[in-house]
Order: sequence, then C-alpha cells, then structure tokens
Amino acid sequence: MAEKQKIMIVEDQFFLAEMIRTRLEFLGYDVIYAEHGARALELLQKDPVDLIIMDVMMPVMDGIEATKRIRTDKAIKDIPIIFLTARARAEDRQQAMDAGATDYIAKPFESSQLTAMVEKWLKK
Ligand SMILES: [Mg+2]
Repeated sequence: MAEKQKIMIVEDQFFLAEMIRTRLEFLGYDVIYAEHGARALELLQKDPVDLIIMDVMMPVMDGIEATKRIRTDKAIKDIPIIFLTARARAEDRQQAMDAGATDYIAKPFESSQLTAMVEKWLKK
C-alpha cells in the first residue's frame, strides 16, 4: 500500500485546525499540526511534509515569516504552501505571494474549497 501523503496545518485557531484535520484525515491524509510558524519550522526539520496549509496571523512567528524561512531552506523549499487569508485584507494575499505562497484561500471557506485546492497542489 502506498504511503499516506502528509499535510501540515499551521494555524493558531485550534478549533479551525481541528476542523481541517478531521476533513483531511477522512480523505486519507496524515495530518501534522503546528500552532505557529516557529513550531512548524521545528517540526519540518524532523519530518518534512508534502503540503503545508498556513495561517497568516499567529503568535510567536506569523505565516509570512515562516514561509520566507521555508523558501530559503534547501531541504524543504519546494513544499507547496496554501495560505489561509482574511478576505478583507488584500495586503495579506500580496504579502503571502511575495513571501513564496503557492496559493491562497480566503477565510471563511467551505472545507470542499480547501480540499480541492489541496488536491490541486499535492504532487501525485
Ligand atoms: Mg491566526
């Protein structure tokens, strides 16, 4: 049996992260959770993933800074990163794309929208 693809959720709203996790696990993915960018970087050193879902505003280290660091780390720089941005903040999206985001989805979103985007960017 093929190994499950691994997805990391970096999101400080635990409840939202759990909702996403439930959906992705139901679809057969392995899910790793990080509550902020610094934790994500720490976990990625030990355990690279196939795709990252990244919030923008988080304590300790935000998604913009974490993405910049991922994009300059040779071992992990090619991982697709989907940002969760606030709909009202166009500058979030621009900053995310400038930092190296692969794509973004505006909150609030339907879980079907997010999983369609995950499937679009995961390498087969
Ligand atoms: Mg947040």
